[in-house]
Amino acid sequence: MVRLQGVTKRFGAVTAVEDVDVTVEAGEIVAVLGPSGCGKTTLLRLIAGFEAPDAGSVHVERRVVAGPAWVPPERRHVGMVFQDYALFPHRTVADNVGFGLARARRGRRVPEVLALVGLDGQGGRYPHELSGGQQQRVALARALAPEPATILLDEPWSNIDPLLRGSMRAEVVEILRRAGTTAVVVTHDQEEAFSVADRIVLLRDGRVVQAGAPEAVYTSPVDRWAATFVGAANFVVGDVSDGRVATPLGTFVVDRETGGRVEVLVRPELLELLPAPTGSAQVVGREFRGHDVFYRIVLADGETVFAHRPSNEVVPLGARVDVRLHDRAPVVFG
Ligand code: ATP
Repeated sequence: MVRLQGVTKRFGAVTAVEDVDVTVEAGEIVAVLGPSGCGKTTLLRLIAGFEAPDAGSVHVERRVVAGPAWVPPERRHVGMVFQDYALFPHRTVADNVGFGLARARRGRRVPEVLALVGLDGQGGRYPHELSGGQQQRVALARALAPEPATILLDEPWSNIDPLLRGSMRAEVVEILRRAGTTAVVVTHDQEEAFSVADRIVLLRDGRVVQAGAPEAVYTSPVDRWAATFVGAANFVVGDVSDGRVATPLGTFVVDRETGGRVEVLVRPELLELLPAPTGSAQVVGREFRGHDVFYRIVLADGETVFAHRPSNEVVPLGARVDVRLHDRAPVVFG
């Protein structure tokens, strides 16, 4: 549905997007995830047609829209939901939603799309009379009204109260699924990307670091940066030989035969703490976080690791413990 091939975009000396390849299949929700300034918004603007690439091509629905040809934004069949929603404050909800439609289509399509986003009968209200979540749904309705094949959403939940964010995300995803729309969502929040996306495109300094299902990106990050960006991570030293890696947490099977000294990624929630008076490790820090507790543990060899455990499990500060790594082939770097 959307395809970027070798796309580069520069602003003076800054290369905002560099040699990017991304494919978005029909009906997919793809999250473009990365830290501030990594080029996420520029990528979205290149798809929408608000920016032109310096190299490479952009395809929408199998048609070249940028590169060897140029199709202006209004003819790309792509809808956009902006971070601040960009609603017209002095127009009613119905006028906002009908804005991009031919006059003859408005009478039927506006109520239809308002129903789709759960705002039936609200067409006569003004944006300031609506909650943030309702305003977002108006922005989504406006983007969906011309029945675009693809919707682009730029940090759509960053202005929503953190307590409501989870339910708003679920609501928007449900609306997109119901409409059968392909969507590209830009976010810097890994939890947000995990919860909404079928696939994540992880971006750093304008380049794609990794693309894959949320589970794959979390459990098999391609490098140390990716591992740290998408979640809490411990790295312990390991020695690989004969398809096994020896670490301070035990010896595990790995999918490489040789390698010598490596770094082993250990997610904190995969560490189990077994209190024992003769335990080889010790709890030296304990932070209660509500649904879980963060522990700082010093291992027998002096290395420090973090463990996240459910809060119904209580291990006191200072306790001696044996640390067991949940049995899963660990990811090694180096
Ligand atoms: P954020 O999450 O902070 O919005 P982002 O990942 O969306 O960041 P972009 O806004 O795409 O990043 O910016 C990528 C880089 O390109 C940044 O260094 C930014 O300063 C630069 N940039 C973006 N737009 C322009 C512009 N119109 N003129 C000059 N530089 C720009």
